[in-house]
Amino acid sequence: MNLRKVSAAAACALALSVTAAACGSDDDGGDSGDGGGKDKITIGIKFDQPGLGLKEPDGSYSGFDVDVATYVAKELGYAEDQIEWKEAISADRETMLERGDVDMIAATYSITDEREQKVDFAGPYLLAHQDLLIRADDDITKGEDLNGKTLCSVTGSTSAQNVKDTIAPKAQLAERPGYSECLDAVAGGSIDALTTDDSILAGYAAQEANKGKFKLAGLNLSNENYGVGVKKGDEKMKTDIDAALEKMVSDGSWEKFMDANLGPANYDFEPAPKIGELK
Ligand code: GLU
Repeated sequence: MNLRKVSAAAACALALSVTAAACGSDDDGGDSGDGGGKDKITIGIKFDQPGLGLKEPDGSYSGFDVDVATYVAKELGYAEDQIEWKEAISADRETMLERGDVDMIAATYSITDEREQKVDFAGPYLLAHQDLLIRADDDITKGEDLNGKTLCSVTGSTSAQNVKDTIAPKAQLAERPGYSECLDAVAGGSIDALTTDDSILAGYAAQEANKGKFKLAGLNLSNENYGVGVKKGDEKMKTDIDAALEKMVSDGSWEKFMDANLGPANYDFEPAPKIGELK
C-alpha cells in the first residue's frame, strides 16, 4: 500500500459519515504487483505504423513498439489487460507527457536535446536511420537526386525538422499530421517521397496493399535513437524502464520482437543499442 492509499484509508476510517462503498474502491485502487498502486497504465503508441505501432481493424494493437511497451509494463507490474493504449501522433507526444495523459510513450520517439527540455527518455531501445520511400519506378540514390523534389513528412517529427535543417532548400517539405496522409500523397503522385525512419518505411513498403508500389531509397540521412518517453523528472519511472529494457535485450525478447514485427518487412536492423548510449 502506498502513502496516498494509507492516508485515504485513514481518512475513511475517521470520516464515519462516508459510506463503506466510497471507501472501498476508486479508479486507481487495487494494487497490482509493483504497479505503483494503480490498476492500469496508459501508454502512447502510433496507430498507423505497420510493424511498429498499428491499430488493427479488430481493435487490437501490433508492432515492435507495442511488444516493447507490453514487456516494459509487465516488468512494472501491469498485465496486458491493465494497459490502456492511446494514439500519440508525432506532434502531440511532449504535450501528452507534460499533461499526464499517458504514463509513457513508445512511439518511434527519437531522443533529442530539444525534446529532453520537456520530457525524459529511458533507453534507447532501437537505432533507426532517416530514409526515403519512393515509388517503385522512381530513382533517388544520392543527395543530389533530391534537387527540386517535394518530400512529405509528419509535423513534429525529427524527419520534418531534418528536411528543414539540412536538406532544404534543395528539396521542398510538405508536412502532414500523420504518416498515412504522406503515403497516400506519394502513391497518388502529388508528392515525390515520404521521408522518415527506415524502420517505419520498411513496414509501409511491406504491407500487402503496397506490395510492388514503393521502395526505400537507401539513404542514411540521420541516426534516430528510439527512447521511451516519460514525464520530466520521473526518475523512478525512467530507471525502472531502463532496467526492463536491459532485461528485454538480455533474455532474447528484443531480437524475438524485431524478427516477428520487422522481419517480414526485410528490415535490415542495427543491433540492440546499449542503454544510455546514443549514436
Ligand atoms: N523517429 C522520428 C521522430 O521521433 C520520426 C518518426 C516519428 O515521427 O515518430 O520524430
